Amino acid sequence: MNSALDRVRAHAGKELVERIEHLDAVRSTRPVDRELAPPDAAARIDADVVVAGGGLSLLVAAELARLGLSVVVIERARAGVAHREWNASDEELRPLVDAGLVSQPELEELVVARYKDGVCAFFGGTPRRVRGVLDRAVDAGPLLDRVRHVAESRGVKFIDGAAVDGIGVGTGSVRVGYRGVRGHSTDRGEVVARVMVDARGASSPYATADLVCPTVGGVLRGLRQGDAPHEVDPNVGDILVTTEDVDPRSGLQHVWEGFPGRPGEVTVYLFYYARAKGAPQGALATLYARFFETLADYKEGDPTLVRPTFGYIPGWSRLSPAPRAPWERVVLVGDAAARHSPLTFCGFGSMLRAFRPAAREIATAIDEGRPPARDVVPEDAVHMWTGALATVMASGTLPGSKLNGLLDAAFGVLEEMGNDEFAALLQDRMTGPRFTEFLRRTGSRHPIVYREVLRALGPMSAARWGVRLAREVLA
Ligand SMILES: Cc1cc2nc3c(=O)[nH]c(=O)nc-3n(C[C@H](O)[C@H](O)[C@H](O)COP(=O)(O)OP(=O)(O)OC[C@H]3O[C@@H](n4cnc5c(N)ncnc54)[C@H](O)[C@@H]3O)c2cc1C
Repeated sequence: MNSALDRVRAHAGKELVERIEHLDAVRSTRPVDRELAPPDAAARIDADVVVAGGGLSLLVAAELARLGLSVVVIERARAGVAHREWNASDEELRPLVDAGLVSQPELEELVVARYKDGVCAFFGGTPRRVRGVLDRAVDAGPLLDRVRHVAESRGVKFIDGAAVDGIGVGTGSVRVGYRGVRGHSTDRGEVVARVMVDARGASSPYATADLVCPTVGGVLRGLRQGDAPHEVDPNVGDILVTTEDVDPRSGLQHVWEGFPGRPGEVTVYLFYYARAKGAPQGALATLYARFFETLADYKEGDPTLVRPTFGYIPGWSRLSPAPRAPWERVVLVGDAAARHSPLTFCGFGSMLRAFRPAAREIATAIDEGRPPARDVVPEDAVHMWTGALATVMASGTLPGSKLNGLLDAAFGVLEEMGNDEFAALLQDRMTGPRFTEFLRRTGSRHPIVYREVLRALGPMSAARWGVRLAREVLA
């Protein structure tokens, strides 16, 4: 472990090592909310909704305010500051305009790169190309800055530098406690609201998703541009790419993602799928060391890491209970809810689809004087399948080249099914009947798939998955 940190230090300096150590330490201690006195029927209501966390889920706060609700956002750092790079397609970005957060010309300006093709390529297999998926890179910082500005203009109140650390749920409202964070001037306080939206991402106490995707990388300069496989083509975004088989020592399948951004810049991530409980301690340090050491197997050049980005992205397999708060009136969104694809981990696209329906459900519930549905983020049926596939990838039971062989077969079938179906799977739109067709075809091309999946999932999960799949098809 120390040697991994030494290697990261040698490649990227002391500051990055300190940030990684901090995140790894925080992850090993799950936060717990203090239990506060529930507000009684006579309690003064400060706001309709309190949103804990002001990252990407700020979109929900802005939409709630557009629907006429009073909203308070409490954020540990400063709300509306992005530390990540995101991509999506034109269609997925449209709700930003429809919700009045940006005009169409402003959106065009926020898109810093456009590419023609997305690629999924698995070691030893054939690159599979898809169009209209993850092909617009968005300038995340200015986007969230803009969303905060619009939210403020709609009356959203921000409490920055305050960590939510206590909850008390009454019959008609919820008390939310917070404490000032070191380095900020905010004091301890409480807000009473009709509903709390937990948008604290992976650090929510209720973010209990069973899979995790340790991810490292960031924005690089200096990679060689061109259209050869080991060069960066500004017209192409890599969605899922493997350059080696499952690591025989760790049992992990490492995956690259890379997409061009501002001129001369490329965002590159290295990640793997893991079970949340089994993810190794200090995973990010080891993964970053591997990133620097194997980057040349993926793309060539003389790279400099100009903006490091890393973290643990939660994923839910749909084979275990869903992440939920234990009470009514506290709803999860974003990474805390983990309703995005556990295969592509596209939390951005998922939030773009979910923020308006989630806000609508909360606003309707408040209007009707009832608690909102426990799950305000709509569920995409296709994750019955992607959840099982991600669990297979996290299980480490398919050694050597078997996993790459299975993925190559599956994505080959998608390519054969046509661009619409390929895009539908990656954008979480594939319907039940189409994904069973996809399974059937993958099984006939790669006959041992069912045995391999069964072994990786284990009999209980496989049975649960089979039942849900059957329900989905019969519905
Ligand atoms: C390295 C990395 C790369 C990624 N790349 C992509 C990508 O290419 N495409 C994509 O679609 N998705 C990507 N994602 C996922 C995407 O960024 C997330 O899905 C998205 O940011 C989730 O938004 P969120 O608001 O739920 O959580 P976050 O954006 O994590 O925001 C949570 C906020 O809550 C705050 N907070 C935490 N605890 C408290 C507390 N107690 N009180 C108050 N505030 C608190 C945090 O400070 C933070 O601002 C990536 C994630 C990572 C880690």
